[in-house]
Amino acid sequence: MTIDAPFTTGVLQSLVRINSVNPSLSPSGAGEAEIARYTATMLAGLGLDVQAHEPLPGRVSVTGRLRGTGGGRSLMLNGHYDTVAVDEMEAPFAATISGGRCHGRGAYDMKGSLAACAGAAKALRDSGAALRGDVIIAAVADEEHASIGTADLIGRFPVDGAIVTEPTSMQICLAHKGFIWIAVTVEGRAAHGSLFTDGIDANVRLGALLVRLGRLAGQLIQRPPHPLVGPPSLHASMVSGGTGMSTYAASATVQIERRTIPGETTEQVTNEIRGLIAECVREDPTFAATLSVVLVREPFEVAPDRPIVRTLTDAATAVLGEQPPYVGQNPWMDSALLSAAGIETVVMGPHGTGAHAKEEWVDVGSVVRFAEVLAAAAARYCA
Ligand SMILES: [Zn+2]
Repeated sequence: MTIDAPFTTGVLQSLVRINSVNPSLSPSGAGEAEIARYTATMLAGLGLDVQAHEPLPGRVSVTGRLRGTGGGRSLMLNGHYDTVAVDEMEAPFAATISGGRCHGRGAYDMKGSLAACAGAAKALRDSGAALRGDVIIAAVADEEHASIGTADLIGRFPVDGAIVTEPTSMQICLAHKGFIWIAVTVEGRAAHGSLFTDGIDANVRLGALLVRLGRLAGQLIQRPPHPLVGPPSLHASMVSGGTGMSTYAASATVQIERRTIPGETTEQVTNEIRGLIAECVREDPTFAATLSVVLVREPFEVAPDRPIVRTLTDAATAVLGEQPPYVGQNPWMDSALLSAAGIETVVMGPHGTGAHAKEEWVDVGSVVRFAEVLAAAAARYCA
């Protein structure tokens, strides 16, 4: 299928030129309203059935449906168009193309991918490919913060398969890590700083737990690694405790981020940390602490023999001339939400660099090739 390269490149530049910084990350962020208007108009221009979705005011996702004739598998091509902040970037919205690279915030993460989705939809339409199932382009809000965009669409778009088009340098990503945020608060007893007979120092007690957490962190990275994403890990992200210099600290809290690998459960992870608290209690029977789970983002894994993976692999091999490698990635992505909803999901996207960094670019040639991969994969999956 032939990709309209000027159209695809034009969409990429138009998307990068629109400020869509996630306002939950950066108070001055523009949000997705304007980029949603552009995307809706652009997808409608391709003849897709377009809908806007606004789970929170100003936080807008857009879907475009290319209807099949019925009876085939349906496929979602998913990409977020919110970006992280532009802080020290020199020209975040210039979308200048030089040396085959389009520069700007979000070019790589991941407006290049959305441009490829649009290029693929246009190729499918122009070629008159005989689709039985629907192809749905989902341009989603808020992936960089709480993923309200994709979470909002799940359930209302019961597709069979999904390709999350996060950038992977044209490799096929079959797994990524998850994470769990946990807070542990250690109890002490407030007292005047002179009253050692009354005060119990929660900060010093927390130290005993921190030593054990450090030991566990060392053990986690020695565990047998997942073949695609490596071992699990843990770090104490923030600690706080105490209220004043002449007061025994009544409580102290450590906030822990535990990066999980496929197969690990929240119960298993919290039990490990409860085990450390139990060790502290054995050492000091008056030790008391409470554990709470703040946020869970599941890890993601898809088996290579699933139809979505086989279809994408065949399409990519045909377009690129060789089979892309199967890889895992560290960051969490919307793929975990789709997969947990029972939608077979795989991740692939174009080449570039600089996600969340001061300099960001996407390779324009790879955006166009990726559009061709997506069109070929959709034509096969939805045939
Ligand atoms: Zn991203």
